[in-house]
Amino acid sequence: MGRLAPSPTGALHLGNIRTFMAAWLQMRQAGGRILLRIEDLDHPKHKPGADAALIDDLRWLGFDWDGPIVRQSTRLPAYRAALARLAPLYPCDCTRADIQGAQSAPHPGEVLRYPGTCRGRDPNRPFSPGKPPAWRLPLTPRDDGRFTDAFAGPQMRTADALTGDFVVARGDEPAYVLASLLDDAEAGVTDVVRGDDILPVTPAQIVLAHRLGLSPPAYWHLPLLVGPDGRRLAKRHGDTRIAAYRAAGLPPARLLTALARASRWIAPDATVATLRDLLPAFDLLATPRAPLVWSDALLQ
Ligand code: GLU
Repeated sequence: MGRLAPSPTGALHLGNIRTFMAAWLQMRQAGGRILLRIEDLDHPKHKPGADAALIDDLRWLGFDWDGPIVRQSTRLPAYRAALARLAPLYPCDCTRADIQGAQSAPHPGEVLRYPGTCRGRDPNRPFSPGKPPAWRLPLTPRDDGRFTDAFAGPQMRTADALTGDFVVARGDEPAYVLASLLDDAEAGVTDVVRGDDILPVTPAQIVLAHRLGLSPPAYWHLPLLVGPDGRRLAKRHGDTRIAAYRAAGLPPARLLTALARASRWIAPDATVATLRDLLPAFDLLATPRAPLVWSDALLQ
């Protein structure tokens, strides 16, 4: 089973779509099922109405899925039960600036490594008021987050080296790493195809899987889309929301064809009319290892 796991932080854009195409095609080609999960845990960036709009965009592009749509916001009891099983955790109110100040800058695309400042903290020292503390998992030398990514290859840096004791909840809200790992495991997801912006926290998910006695899925982390300046595709590169292309009257076939050509899933002069047309020849491992440089000229 595969899954599409959009966050309703805004409209669906081309970067999401390329990864979703890969996830959908890989699983449908193998005759497998696809789950649609909306990652709507409380987040300041979530926009009301965004989930209905993204579901509509997905359908317009030709995606389908099996069974009911899962919303993370309905699964809080499951996450809280897992948090209880992970105990002991420790609270931490270090700010990003505190953590940054304690180390040299991380490599681009990497998360900040937490140096363990609040581990063993005096229990009488009060926490900063007004903001619930983060709960961190104290890592031990037995926690091994190394794994082999089915697309990106062996990932030999441990969670401890990459993230340090990572956050599994803020107040009583579970963190993304825990929620998505648990959702995938409980739904029986076997293959996770997603953007390689999440690669640096995947060792943390492997550690969580082992701690919770779950088997991690196979991970396929694909490079992201970037603009002609090499930076991650964003508003500065123009409007790459699916809604904007729809409003401009572009048919889905043009977007699918452009993304499939640039991803080397079809020949540079081939065209497809629907997502399904990509199924026979699809090869996830043909996808270039380098970030896909997008410009609207690819739609010509
Ligand atoms: N919800 C995340 C996103 O939209 C994807 C997480 C995942 O695929 O595990 O970026």
